[in-house]
Amino acid sequence: MNMQYGNQQGRRGMGFGGIRWWVLLLFAGYAAYYWFSNRVDDPLTGEKVLIDQSITPDDEKALGLQAWNELQQTEQIVPPSDPNARAVKEIAARLIAKIPQVSDALAAEHGMQAPHIEKTFDWDVNLIQSEQVNAFCLPGGKMAVYTGLIPVAQNNNAMAVVMGHEITHALLRHGAQRMSEQKLAQMGQMAGAMSGMDQQQMQAVMAVYGYGRALPYARKQETQADEMGLMLAAAACFDPQEAIPLWERMGQASGGQAPPEFSSTHPNPGTRIQNLQALMPKAMEYRKKFCETAQ
Ligand SMILES: [Zn+2]
Repeated sequence: MNMQYGNQQGRRGMGFGGIRWWVLLLFAGYAAYYWFSNRVDDPLTGEKVLIDQSITPDDEKALGLQAWNELQQTEQIVPPSDPNARAVKEIAARLIAKIPQVSDALAAEHGMQAPHIEKTFDWDVNLIQSEQVNAFCLPGGKMAVYTGLIPVAQNNNAMAVVMGHEITHALLRHGAQRMSEQKLAQMGQMAGAMSGMDQQQMQAVMAVYGYGRALPYARKQETQADEMGLMLAAAACFDPQEAIPLWERMGQASGGQAPPEFSSTHPNPGTRIQNLQALMPKAMEYRKKFCETAQ
């Protein structure tokens, strides 16, 4: 009886009575080990990222291909003879052609060598008939633009900015980064359950560690995709300045319902536009360096 009373009092006070703390300590140890042994420098951004070493680019490519095959069953692909489908393919081809040079230039800025993961990609770019304001690039290079994006992009320059952004997510292996974070989070949930925490306590702990952001991509990954995407567009002779009105239109378009990629991740489109504005001199430099020499 006494024991029980003590327990209940603990719950009333701290709210964490009766928890097997050693389970949590073990998890913390594992998490720290996992974190440090899978932390790598990304040559293209100069930032430290978490990528599980057991997830190879080939694994990711296989997942991308699987997702693409499933998608083709449900989505309506616009025939390649369609002028819009052709335009999307042409824009992609120009961007893709500049990936090696832009990667080398970005890596050199951070004193590193570019990984050139694009060499393993089998590019395939399609237009999908859908109201959605969306586009994506899967690991391995399967890429899609939804027709709903066309009226928001309005021109090839803006479309190139969006597609450059999507290509960058794949090149920077943001999918693998998310999988690695999820793996940690799942381990954490398991440890939480094993330690005797209830659902509410677990959520409270997870929130402290910034988990629970049910986001397609983290904010930082969005910023990285914006930056390299802009450089790719500029290097491929598109006008990077179009990025500003594009994201303004995107903000308006997503006012009501939130499309998967472009609004839910960015509660504050003003910050994104400020970041892009700050990147404009660099983008113009890339345009000068890689667009004109190529002509
Ligand atoms: Zn994104």
